Amino acid sequence: MTRIDPRSDIKVMSKYHSPQVDVPIRLNTNESPFDPPTAWLHDVNDALQSIHWNRYPDRSASKLRAAIAARHGVSVDNVFVANGSNEVLQTLLLTYAGAGRTVATFEPTYQLHTHLSRISGATVVSGDRREDFTLDLDEVRRVLNTYSPHVTFLCSPNNPTGRIEDRAVVDEVVRTAPGIVVIDEAYAEFADWSALELIQEDRAVAVSRTFSKTWSLAALRLGYLIAPTWMIEQMEAVVLPYHLDTFKQIAGEKALAYVNEMDARVAGIVSERERIVAHLGALPVDTWPSGANFILFRPRQIGALVVWQRLLEAGVLVRDCSSWDRLQGCLRVTVGTPEENGVFMSALSRALS
Ligand SMILES: *Cc1c(COP(=O)(O)O)cnc(C)c1O
Repeated sequence: MTRIDPRSDIKVMSKYHSPQVDVPIRLNTNESPFDPPTAWLHDVNDALQSIHWNRYPDRSASKLRAAIAARHGVSVDNVFVANGSNEVLQTLLLTYAGAGRTVATFEPTYQLHTHLSRISGATVVSGDRREDFTLDLDEVRRVLNTYSPHVTFLCSPNNPTGRIEDRAVVDEVVRTAPGIVVIDEAYAEFADWSALELIQEDRAVAVSRTFSKTWSLAALRLGYLIAPTWMIEQMEAVVLPYHLDTFKQIAGEKALAYVNEMDARVAGIVSERERIVAHLGALPVDTWPSGANFILFRPRQIGALVVWQRLLEAGVLVRDCSSWDRLQGCLRVTVGTPEENGVFMSALSRALS
C-alpha cells in the first residue's frame, strides 16, 4: 500500500493535545468542575422527543442565534455559531487568513491560534509579551507595522497566563491593526471587562465566546462569534452547510435560560480562585494575576516536572507548560470544586517542601 504524505506545510506541525490521564482530580483543561443545572438536563431530554431527526437542521440556527443576540444586546445578524469556539476561529481563519496571508499572535498565548492559522495555510508572525505577560504597545506596533497582518489575535483573559488584556491597549490595537482583530474571550465571564463593547459595523473587530468553560458544557462543543454583520455573512459562505446539528442548537438555546445559575457558579469559582491565590502567595512559587478560572505558577526551588509528578502521585493532574516557549518552569492549575482545591493546595505544599 502506498502511503501519501500530507501537505508539506502540515507535515512539520506538532499535534495539539492535552494529555488525558486517568486521575481522581483533573485540574488540567480549564473545564467547569460542576455539572450543568439538572433542570437544563430535563429541558433537553424533553426537547429530544420533538426533534425531526429525518430532517436537516435549521441551517441558520436562528433560535439559538437569537437567544445569544438577546443575551449580548446585539442583532441576530451579529452572531455566528459553530462547534466550539475552535471551529468559530477556524472558519474565521479560512475566510480571512489562508495561503499568502499573515496572522499575528502575541506569545505566550493560546496555542490553537497559531495551529489553526497554519492549517489554514497562513504565515504566523509572533510578537513577545512582556516578562509579566502584559502586552507591550511598542512591540504590538512593531509587529503590525512590519507585517500588516490580515488577522491579529488577542486573548482576554489570556490562556495560559490568566491575565486580562488592558482595555486601553486593546483600544489601541483596534485603532492601529490593518486587518481583523479577534479577541478570544473563552473566559470572559470571569473578567471585569469585555471587548464586546468595541464591536461596531464599521470596525473589523470580532469577539469569540464558548459554552465549554463557564457554561459547564465542554461536552456539547458549542461556541460563537459576535462581529459586524458583513463578517458574519462572509463566514456563513465558508462554513460547511448544516454544520450545527439540531440537538446542539436546542441544547445551547435552553442553556441560555440558566444565566443566573451560571453567574452563581462563576462567583463561586472566582472566590475559590482567590483562596488558591492566597495559598500560593505563601509558597515559594511565582504567580501572575488571574482573571480566569485557572492560575499559572512557577515553582522557584524545585523543578516544575518534579512538582507535576508529585502532584500526580497525590492524584492531582495539572497542566505542564514548562516546555512551552516563554513559559519555562511553569505549571497551570484549573480551579476545581472546593474539595478538589483543598487536595491540590495541601499536595502542592508537600510537593514543594
Ligand atoms: C478553552 C478555550 C477555548 C474553547 O474552545 P472550544 O472549542 O469552545 O471548546 C477557546 N479559546 C481559549 C483561549 C480557550 O482556553
